Amino acid sequence: MTTRSTPPLHAADDGGDLPVSARIRSRLINARHRYHANDNISAFVMDGEVDALRTEVESKMAEVLKSLVIDTEGDHNTQETARRVAKMFLTEVFKGRYTAMPAVTEFPNIEQLNELLIVGPITARSACSHHLCPILGKVWIGIMPNEHSNLIGLSKYARICDWVMSRPQIQEEAVIQLANILQDKVKPDGLAIVIEADHFCMHWRGVKDADARMTNSVMRGSFLKDPDLRREFLSLLSKKNG
Ligand SMILES: [Zn+2]
Repeated sequence: MTTRSTPPLHAADDGGDLPVSARIRSRLINARHRYHANDNISAFVMDGEVDALRTEVESKMAEVLKSLVIDTEGDHNTQETARRVAKMFLTEVFKGRYTAMPAVTEFPNIEQLNELLIVGPITARSACSHHLCPILGKVWIGIMPNEHSNLIGLSKYARICDWVMSRPQIQEEAVIQLANILQDKVKPDGLAIVIEADHFCMHWRGVKDADARMTNSVMRGSFLKDPDLRREFLSLLSKKNG
């Protein structure tokens, strides 16, 4: 995870005649903040700029369709495609880059729960960074709390997962990003995450391998140290998977 620093949020010193993407990029560069496909850059995007990015992407997308020699004026099916794709990128499938992390309330572990908690399967919807092809899968999270852990509402796991996945991703990196956030929020004794996903860039193009499923896991703390706990998590998970 990259650290967040406060960006200069004054439109005036930001070169108003530049494309909005260039203004945001220069803030990122000035702050030396990484802006890879799976990074969240919301701290550098001012109010209204997601809409402006949508307009910018729409016009570039129209150029892509033109370069693909598609008659977007004559073809009623593609007349609105540039607008739809820009909206889909900015406000749906890649929104986890441009919006801040969902608010999460953490509660102290007053009851001192120390039983294995499993959340899942959570639906994971993402796209690969390499081809921007969909990745669809499931995520299971195992939490082993201790008396110092925080508890967060069950629905928040799904919301945080969606926020991480709604970016162009690399599955191995996505699972680590998710683990780092949960480690930070929940501070569990042990944390386990398993993601199993279908990669459509394998189905749709390339080798057209129908069995393009990939599984990744992260095990931390007591899940690493205690093979019985790890086994318990994995066996419960395979039962749930049915
Ligand atoms: Zn791919």
